[in-house]
Amino acid sequence: MDMTILGCSGSLSAPGNPASGYLLRTADGRQILMDVGPGVLARLQELGNPGDVDVVFSHLHPDHCSDFPSLVVWQRFHPTRAASDRHVLLGPSIAALHLGRVSADHPSQVDDFSDILDVHSWRAPAAQDAPVVFDETSRGTVYPGHRIGSATLYAAPAVHPTESYMIRVEDRDGSSLVYSGDTAATGHLAALAAGADALLCEATWGERDNGDNPPQMHLSGEEAGQAAAEAGVGRLVITHVPPWGDAEGALRGARRFYDGPVELARPDMELHVGD
Ligand SMILES: [Zn+2]
Ligand SMILES: [Zn+2]
Repeated sequence: MDMTILGCSGSLSAPGNPASGYLLRTADGRQILMDVGPGVLARLQELGNPGDVDVVFSHLHPDHCSDFPSLVVWQRFHPTRAASDRHVLLGPSIAALHLGRVSADHPSQVDDFSDILDVHSWRAPAAQDAPVVFDETSRGTVYPGHRIGSATLYAAPAVHPTESYMIRVEDRDGSSLVYSGDTAATGHLAALAAGADALLCEATWGERDNGDNPPQMHLSGEEAGQAAAEAGVGRLVITHVPPWGDAEGALRGARRFYDGPVELARPDMELHVGD
């Protein structure tokens, strides 16, 4: 599979760099957009086709979803390039309500996306308290896979103040990518990322957690490197560094623990994942 980074600025958009938005192209040519932060839709108009994307959310903090209502407007109303078919919206169990409220005309209303989107949650209500074991030998606790075209997507719970997930995408061609979303350190990350071709991992805190940061929020470069090393991934891409953050420090911290290829995510970056 291939990935185009539409935006990778952490916590908010930056000049020339939208907040989180990662466009995957799978083996069957499908476009899957992971997170839709502010500024992402404009880049998607230049680098992809907004009428033809499936949307996957790690979580619903504004820096990961605030361009979504405008994407819905495109998919419904574009005169020539609206959604040609119903696409998938896959995210937290609160997604339909949360995003539906933001897209509605009045605070008491919830926009119903079912005319253009099939809405799915990472965890079915019945499975909320009983996550399944995906691979009992190494991968630990993840929620059941969801098929989108040739790809299967898995998620594991992240450590973050709202319902949040880390995402693993496996494509028919054998390629695999893991996206941390936003998370504090958790053993679930290395478990989910075990053996993946690439780990796209946040490192909001820069080189290391200095102890002054709020708990249960984000990772440092050192923690990203530790997860990459433990998981044995093929490459590590550091992302979600805020405009005031220490990107070079995050790289340094990651390299202290992970001796594979490490690079910083940058807007418009193209990554081929797999062989
Ligand atoms: Zn974020
Ligand atoms: Zn967040």
